[in-house]
Amino acid sequence: MLHDLASAWLRNLGGKPCFRIYGKAKTESDWRVIDIFATHRRDIFSSWPLWRGTCITWTSSVIAVGWDFAGALLNEQIREPASREHPVEVIGGRLHAPGRGPGTVSEVIAHECGHIAQARRLGGLYWLIGAAFTRFREGPRWRNWFENQASETGQFGGIVNGSVCDELMHQLRDL
Ligand SMILES: [Zn+2]
Repeated sequence: MLHDLASAWLRNLGGKPCFRIYGKAKTESDWRVIDIFATHRRDIFSSWPLWRGTCITWTSSVIAVGWDFAGALLNEQIREPASREHPVEVIGGRLHAPGRGPGTVSEVIAHECGHIAQARRLGGLYWLIGAAFTRFREGPRWRNWFENQASETGQFGGIVNGSVCDELMHQLRDL
């Protein structure tokens, strides 16, 4: 309920999503349609230090990313599309682990889908717990559980057909 209200408020602020995706946790059977909102404040070269180059799951149906990230995800998905039959998961259940390279953009979104499932389960507590534990990131300690769980459970089932906004479609045509 709280998440529905917050999602409606964010949609009001953010306008149209740049696209929609399918996401869920491994333990869930039903796929959920998630709105991806893009903002230049989250671009790699943004002048907003805390937002720069970051993605965030705001509610159980809204993820915010930079426009550069949204474009990169679309490009990656055109080359190697994820689907609900063949979803992308975070390899080895960790985005940052010794011996592995940086995660792909699709793996980062799979991680965010793990947060979507947490938001569904935790309701209003999600924001409190997220604020307390996100900064500890992944790791071996108990305080890393929030980020570890997102990487271990999230599944990204691809971009919803016909949901890509005009702005990104234009970028694609210019490539
Ligand atoms: Zn996270």
